[in-house]
Amino acid sequence: MGKYEEAKQQVTTLCHNLVEKGYLMGTGGNVSVRIRGEHAFAITPSNYDYTIMTPADVCILRYNLTVLEGERKPSIESALHAAIYENRLDTNCVIHTHQLYASAFGLTKTPIPALYDEQARFLGKSVEIINYAPSGTGFLKHNVVIRLKNHCNAYILQNHGALCLGPDPDRTMFNVQLLEKCAVTYLLAICTEKKISRIPLPFREVAFAMLRKDQKKFENANEH
Ligand SMILES: [Zn+2]
Repeated sequence: MGKYEEAKQQVTTLCHNLVEKGYLMGTGGNVSVRIRGEHAFAITPSNYDYTIMTPADVCILRYNLTVLEGERKPSIESALHAAIYENRLDTNCVIHTHQLYASAFGLTKTPIPALYDEQARFLGKSVEIINYAPSGTGFLKHNVVIRLKNHCNAYILQNHGALCLGPDPDRTMFNVQLLEKCAVTYLLAICTEKKISRIPLPFREVAFAMLRKDQKKFENANEH
């Protein structure tokens, strides 16, 4: 068994779970897992059906995009994933989807404010919009890197989709689902045209402080 087998299996399992739950459709979206201590990550291949994907299809790349293992062409967003791992040491898994309800906010360019305690605790103070740039370009990478400084774990890409970060595959999957819950309910609430209630600011700050405390632990683990 190769030394990257665990990361390849994690990416494959995530893809199958994301397809099953309807967050990944066709060949849209991409998924990666950091390989600790190696300046490398495992990422989905480009333009490949996730339902038939196996660990052998997953690519292992260095942050400079040199291929360490894998026969297939890596995702066109590989540079974006590498930039996230370099800029956010707390992040060990990245999931980009075209999930429907979160993506709708990318059309109206509406950030999602803190609506729930668990949202502030696991996704951050708000879900911000990342300005449009074409897929696979340095412009998109640039726009993402600017936003990462807010230490949140979920973002919406204008006219494109969603981006979730997390400290491990399970919690990143959880963040994808939590983002969609926030998006669905916020959209429904907006449709009523009534005033939308948010969680009180002090509680948002307490929950976010807990997220930051977790993140610092993971940052330290990746620094050493
Ligand atoms: Zn996409």
